[in-house]
Amino acid sequence: MALTNGHSINKETWDSHNKMMLEPLSINDPEIFSIIKKEKKRQTYGLELIASENFASRAVLEALGSCMNNKYSEGYPGQRYYGGTEHIDELERLCQKRALEAFSLDPEKWGVNVQPYSGSPANFAVYTAVVEPHGRIMGLDLPDGGHLTHGFMTDKKKISATSIFFESMPYKVNQETGYIDYDRLQENARLFHPKLIIAGTSCYSRNLDYARLKQIANENGAYLMGDMAHISGLVAAGVVPSPFEHCDIVSTTTHKTLRGCRSGVIFYRKGVRSVDAKGKETLYNLESLINQAVFPGLQGGPHNHAIAGVAVALKQAMTPEFKVYQQQVLANCKALSNALVGHGYKIVTGGSDNHLILLDLRNKGTDGGRAEKVLEACAIACNKNTCPGDKSALRPSGLRFGSPALTSRGLVEEDFKKVALFIHKGVELTLEVQRSLDPKANLKEFVQALNQGEKFQERVAALRAEVEDFAGQFPMPGLPEL
Ligand SMILES: *Cc1c(COP(=O)(O)O)cnc(C)c1O
Repeated sequence: MALTNGHSINKETWDSHNKMMLEPLSINDPEIFSIIKKEKKRQTYGLELIASENFASRAVLEALGSCMNNKYSEGYPGQRYYGGTEHIDELERLCQKRALEAFSLDPEKWGVNVQPYSGSPANFAVYTAVVEPHGRIMGLDLPDGGHLTHGFMTDKKKISATSIFFESMPYKVNQETGYIDYDRLQENARLFHPKLIIAGTSCYSRNLDYARLKQIANENGAYLMGDMAHISGLVAAGVVPSPFEHCDIVSTTTHKTLRGCRSGVIFYRKGVRSVDAKGKETLYNLESLINQAVFPGLQGGPHNHAIAGVAVALKQAMTPEFKVYQQQVLANCKALSNALVGHGYKIVTGGSDNHLILLDLRNKGTDGGRAEKVLEACAIACNKNTCPGDKSALRPSGLRFGSPALTSRGLVEEDFKKVALFIHKGVELTLEVQRSLDPKANLKEFVQALNQGEKFQERVAALRAEVEDFAGQFPMPGLPEL
């Protein structure tokens, strides 16, 4: 074939290119295919207890893997910077409609933006929309169960961009009870005068008092933003209190309890914000601020394949099946919590209202980092987490466990009792490894002892085999091949 620059391209390579474009992954890229297969096996034969994770359904993953990936559509439905967007417009409008319906929102009072790439960009978009540069925000501190994007910083360093571009002051949980200290938040808010207060958590097993948070926000003329990333599926199913009653803005991820693909959504209020003593109304103007912050403020083209996956997940979230799923998530979390208490463990706040628990290992004489390593070796996935009162974030004494992912595979309370027993066996093994070492041994030395001791390796292999045997019995949602 001739090219305009006078060279010609190799016909055989061109034919081969055209063939390549039609090859399935297994043929085209066996290396990546094999990594995916290994990951699928890990997910299938392991116990997935990471509280923020879930298994998306086959339909969600099909939408995610579709041709919607190919399309640019900067802008919003009806006002795009690209042609050929008629089906994209239909998709985004349907996704918006489902988002409002799934949370029983009146389209006169609430609007929604479904374009954020994930939860963190969604939050940053909200901050840039309603808080001026270096304006003040308050969120639950990260070591107390908040999220990085709620303004995390340490004595030494501003960690999250939220704390670099905005001034953040955290609020905290009571270090004895583990419950949020609303009184202290109120006192500090009166001094700090935040522009925005964030009501949202990544590791907090109790319901939030949205009414109280709204009252504190109102006192200071601040917006209240609910970040329901972890609990949005529970909210959609109506099994935990809804942030929509009291919040001005609600952000969420779509891949945690909501069980969609990875993406983010922002809901904002429309209409009257407040009425003063003389009856004069102040209106919200969040719609244009938030939409402009997402695009063109922070993002380019929306991920239309993700918006398609989210739309599918939202449709599922309105079914009776989804409600039963979320009820089972709560029941399973309680069963896990109760069984662990039965094995002598302490749970922060004494239990859970939602899908997760925080296990406090201090009374057992070990910590989250060590136990996490042993459990991981035994095919049990969870994560270490600070507990209220922890002296150092470097040695977190807790483990966070969540029930959403395994519940998606059909496990019920009886199964979670077995899961609790596997965890217990893992922690017992952690203690044995520790006893074989100098009490001052660090985590690296601990892992070395675990991996090198033949005795420990046998124990790990035995527990791992039990776990894999158990986990392998349950069906795995998603695409059959991948
Ligand atoms: C997970 C989470 C986020 C961030 O979501 P990503 O999709 O990981 O960016 C934000 N807020 C809260 C409370 C979360 O738990």
